Amino acid sequence: MQTIDFRSDTVTRPSPAMLEAMAGAEVGDDVLGDDPTVKKLERRVAEILGKPAACMTPSGTMANQSAIRAHTEPGDEVITHEGGHILHYETGAPAALSGVMIRPLPGERGQFSPDDVESAVRPGDDHCPRSRLLIIENTHNRGGGAVWPIDAIEAVAAKAAEFDLRRHLDGARLWNACAATGLAPDAYAAYFDTVSVCFSKGLGAPACSAVAGDEQIIARVRRFRKMFGGTMRQSGLLAAAALHALENNRNRLTEDHDNAKRLAAGLAELGLQVDSERIETNMVFFTLPQTLSDRFNRAPGLCEAMEGVGVRMLWESRTTVRAVTHLDVSRAMIDESLERLRDLLSRS
Ligand SMILES: *Cc1c(COP(=O)(O)O)cnc(C)c1O
Repeated sequence: MQTIDFRSDTVTRPSPAMLEAMAGAEVGDDVLGDDPTVKKLERRVAEILGKPAACMTPSGTMANQSAIRAHTEPGDEVITHEGGHILHYETGAPAALSGVMIRPLPGERGQFSPDDVESAVRPGDDHCPRSRLLIIENTHNRGGGAVWPIDAIEAVAAKAAEFDLRRHLDGARLWNACAATGLAPDAYAAYFDTVSVCFSKGLGAPACSAVAGDEQIIARVRRFRKMFGGTMRQSGLLAAAALHALENNRNRLTEDHDNAKRLAAGLAELGLQVDSERIETNMVFFTLPQTLSDRFNRAPGLCEAMEGVGVRMLWESRTTVRAVTHLDVSRAMIDESLERLRDLLSRS
């Protein structure tokens, strides 16, 4: 039985065409600054995001954290959503690596308003941390893969500028936001000083992310990437995979979004609580009704039972499960997984 893996859009394997691009890559030593494929990727990312420069990093965490370090001084405060990736899934790195505090803002679907930003900004007095950096995540992971509307971004960015805050976009899934709205990546990036993007999520490369911004800030990002241990040598192999992913796998993300809607509709038919109307990109969060929760011993128990029928998902909480669609899950596999779950749930 073939396992159908919805745990994350990071589980994709490099395709034969991607491996071929990697095998044919011209490489050098990027620590010495002469890997031509890394340079090519950095130029291409800068161009796509409408920025003068970019720096490739091994992971999205390092992209975000070297940007945070580049923008701040110890004791500064970073304003972001309370469900943010940098707050929950980057091992406390803002505190550990940059010595900054996080000011978390509440709000539906990973979003907040200009007023929320204004009320979080500290008075510029010696008792308080310095409000320095605003971070927006688009699409928002814990917000259900929700897309920040661009006019909301514009309004929040304008408010941040009013208070002299730097602005960083955690765009690990910016490609999904672009596929969902039809807007170009540089339309979003224009509101930010730095933007991080990921090649190993929906785009299907085996590793790496990048940060884009102006020459000055990217020089600092590059310095902290080195300090954090993320400067690599013949990394053109990975840059070739990322270039292949950028050129070939962006347009097809709408298929993942359609598949997520199809999965959500099927799960709802099986009695799981999911709001299909709210599926904007490739993430499906659903809740167990009481009867199923009791029967399967909550979300972790249901995930374990699903493993038994070759369907892998991750539980988010005792009551919530997350499923993510991606390059390696076809429409037929969505239907197949729903069949298996129907079978599982109908067993007495
Ligand atoms: C995946 C992700 C990252 C980076 O994660 P890595 O696993 O370190 O590559 C950053 N932000 C968001 C929103 C993400 O989903």
